[in-house]
Amino acid sequence: MTVRVGVIGTGAIGRDHARRINQVLAGGEIVALSDVNRVSAEKVKAEIAPEGEIFETGEALIASPKVDVVLVTSWGATHEQYVLAAIAARKPCFCEKPLATSADGAKRIVDAEVAHGKRLVQVGFMRRYDVGYVALKQSVSSRIGAPILVHAAHRNPTVPEQYVTPMAIHDTLIHEIDVFRWLLDDDYVSARVLFPRKAARSHAKLRDPQVVLLETTKGVLIDVEIFVNCRYGYDIQCEVVGEDGIAKLPEPMAVKMRLDATLQNSILTDWKDRFIDSYDVELRDFLKAAAQGGVSGPTSWDGYVAAIASDACVTAQEREGEAVAIALPARPALYN
Ligand code: NAP
Repeated sequence: MTVRVGVIGTGAIGRDHARRINQVLAGGEIVALSDVNRVSAEKVKAEIAPEGEIFETGEALIASPKVDVVLVTSWGATHEQYVLAAIAARKPCFCEKPLATSADGAKRIVDAEVAHGKRLVQVGFMRRYDVGYVALKQSVSSRIGAPILVHAAHRNPTVPEQYVTPMAIHDTLIHEIDVFRWLLDDDYVSARVLFPRKAARSHAKLRDPQVVLLETTKGVLIDVEIFVNCRYGYDIQCEVVGEDGIAKLPEPMAVKMRLDATLQNSILTDWKDRFIDSYDVELRDFLKAAAQGGVSGPTSWDGYVAAIASDACVTAQEREGEAVAIALPARPALYN
């Protein structure tokens, strides 16, 4: 069965997902596009999705009988309204992170899905589909004994001037926030943030780098360095220390060279390249489940928990060094 897909938001990731669905994966076809920037939607139609009818609004796209499932890849602040509309229309929906820009917004989505009584939303936490993280999870759950510590780093070569300190949490750390819960099968109880001296290349409104300390219900302590102007590359590190051993996220494949009297190994510079395969796998998973009328993968609940933990981390930035509690409500049975 070919699932008829409507895409709301045809910017960087929307365009890339449209390409995936029409040119890489089987099981889906883009039949509808919408973007406040009509030129962007027209460009995607012309270059990737000739069958994509352009709709004036995301709501009109969702309501169209020609659309079976919805991809929400617009600006983060608009996700909530479109995901709620997709639930109201009973259509499976893939929503890029963040599920909503506030914990209250994410809760409204959880409540709507629970009221509907069936999962309809998959959140774009693609690291859960990364082959390295999947292998790491296997080692963590079966080889190294109970986890005690996690050391991690999220480094970007550079970020634009408009990237301000809280974005290091909402835009960057949010991937770690989700993937550690999944990796450790655990939840958070508190967050702390520590800042070293500001790096010379950091922007005026950005304190870079920073270290986030997360504590979990099982007593695991996680330290994450976020360094978004590190210059040298896009580098994701994760090492789990267990009772019996240590498991480390594999490095992306790279040719090793002996050259100019050095041993060289190139490092990726673009996040799109680092997780390119996992985006394919997550969307394949979405299309497969959507063909049966449902969804799998990261849930609205995961998106809601990530929003609560992100808000706590931003508060922890403001109260540098102080532990900020992360209180989670009871998980509805739909997400067990
Ligand atoms: P982008 O390039 O700015 O694209 C967003 C598009 O949405 C733009 O064309 C924008 O138009 C449009 N838009 C804004 N408001 C809209 C509305 N009300 N209805 C329909 N379209 C609207 O951003 P992006 O990098 O693709 O990011 C989009 C989302 O994906 C963000 O939430 C981001 O966090 C997420 N993302 C996730 C990953 C990941 O690794 N999972 C990677 C990248 C992005 P204008 O340009 O005119 O505003």
